[in-house]
Amino acid sequence: MAGSRQLIVVANRLPVRRVTVDGQPQWATSPGGLVSALAPVMSERPESLWVGWTGAAGNAPAPFTHDGINLHPVELSRADVELYYEGFSNGTLWPLYHDAISQPEYHRTWWDTYVKVNRRFADAVLSVADPDAVVWVHDYQLQLVPGMLREASPDLRIGFFFHTPFPARELFLRLPWRSRVVRALLGADLLGFQSEVGAHNFRHVVPRVIDSDDLEVEVGDEDISFVGRTVRTRNLPIGIDFDRFEAGASTPDAADHQAELRAQLNQPRRVLLGVDRLDYTKGIERRLRAYNELLSEDRVSADDTVLIQIAEPSRSNVNGYAEIRGAVEQMVGEINGRHGTMARPAVHYLHRSHSFDELMGFYRLADVMLVTPFRDGMNLVAKEYVATRFDDTGVLVLSEFAGAAHELHDAVLVNPYDIDGLKEAIEYAVFMPMEEQTRRMTAMRTAIETNSSAAWARGFLEILESA
Ligand code: UDP
Repeated sequence: MAGSRQLIVVANRLPVRRVTVDGQPQWATSPGGLVSALAPVMSERPESLWVGWTGAAGNAPAPFTHDGINLHPVELSRADVELYYEGFSNGTLWPLYHDAISQPEYHRTWWDTYVKVNRRFADAVLSVADPDAVVWVHDYQLQLVPGMLREASPDLRIGFFFHTPFPARELFLRLPWRSRVVRALLGADLLGFQSEVGAHNFRHVVPRVIDSDDLEVEVGDEDISFVGRTVRTRNLPIGIDFDRFEAGASTPDAADHQAELRAQLNQPRRVLLGVDRLDYTKGIERRLRAYNELLSEDRVSADDTVLIQIAEPSRSNVNGYAEIRGAVEQMVGEINGRHGTMARPAVHYLHRSHSFDELMGFYRLADVMLVTPFRDGMNLVAKEYVATRFDDTGVLVLSEFAGAAHELHDAVLVNPYDIDGLKEAIEYAVFMPMEEQTRRMTAMRTAIETNSSAAWARGFLEILESA
């Protein structure tokens, strides 16, 4: 019966982080979509547990329970972090799976450690799994785990979900270890993707890396037959906890925060907002460049309009991230140098992480939300902004190359590489009449309201268990 088996979630990170409260170290639940998606289904199954890394190199703590979730920590040494996490995951796979926006590096030492660490995650699962457990593996850091589990324990139900895009075939084929990765992924019973394009790309890759003459593999419209088993590939875009964001933005605190921010900004008539991890996939620098040109051409005026760019610090040890930070900060300096005054900068740049409550104030404040990544598996920020707009106002400018664009057709869609198009889209958004804002926002809210993160998790598990 669906729902009665043990559920094991496997992700690079556990859903907790270390914080200090009154001088005492404690665990706190991490903010993030995955926890809100999985906590409800995990709580329905008493034996369920989450296998992952705490985020700190060195000895892992013993298994423990936090907020009702059983956590099973996997240890990563400093060298593992460098080679498996910063190296192969974020220096090879991340750029390759985001259309090689930054040049992926291929190092055999990174790959060897990736294999070793994936083996450690698989062994951790095997040490606690019932023979017929349902195991749900998450994301690009752990692609080898399905194959390792299948080999050791054939009766497991194994699902895998890509939170990133899966790239076009000719890009993926550059990966020196492509065949080992694909074979390991085919150890799963269900492979979930953020878009149909990703699922299609994966099916397209399979016959190129596995010789179909030996009848091992046969690729159908949705299902792949591999050594006698069926592997389903499905488009299952992740949702957000819509109600939590809508309610969070409707509180008196959020209203106060919004009013306080607007007062600090000297009451500009229009506020534009970007909220991104500081990552080269997010297109922050080009977005700023477009804004700079709009100001220079007097199409938008810094007298009554302001741009706030939140850039959450990210992966500062990985190649490419220091460069993007430098480029973004230089552009911010250039815009303020040219268009700002002492009392009124044209861009406010916040290079730090913001809490859920703080983000609620910013989302409420923003008349225009700019989400213009060059490539993004989903982009939760786009959906979160829409969920917070309970009064149906506000405009979302959204990249065609974010997964969210497949659901948010009523955003102002842009090609983020096209700087003139980007300028037109921002200008259009800034001056959009209220009736059009309401029409578009209502349609977007309807589009994402029902695919909540919890419904997404239930839907995935239902398909996984229903074979
Ligand atoms: N976020 C946050 N604080 C910040 C900036 C972002 O909590 O200062 C959250 C944001 O609410 C969203 C997530 O981080 O849930 C970013 O997810 P997204 O899919 O947009 O991009 P990713 O970082 O996964 O590439």
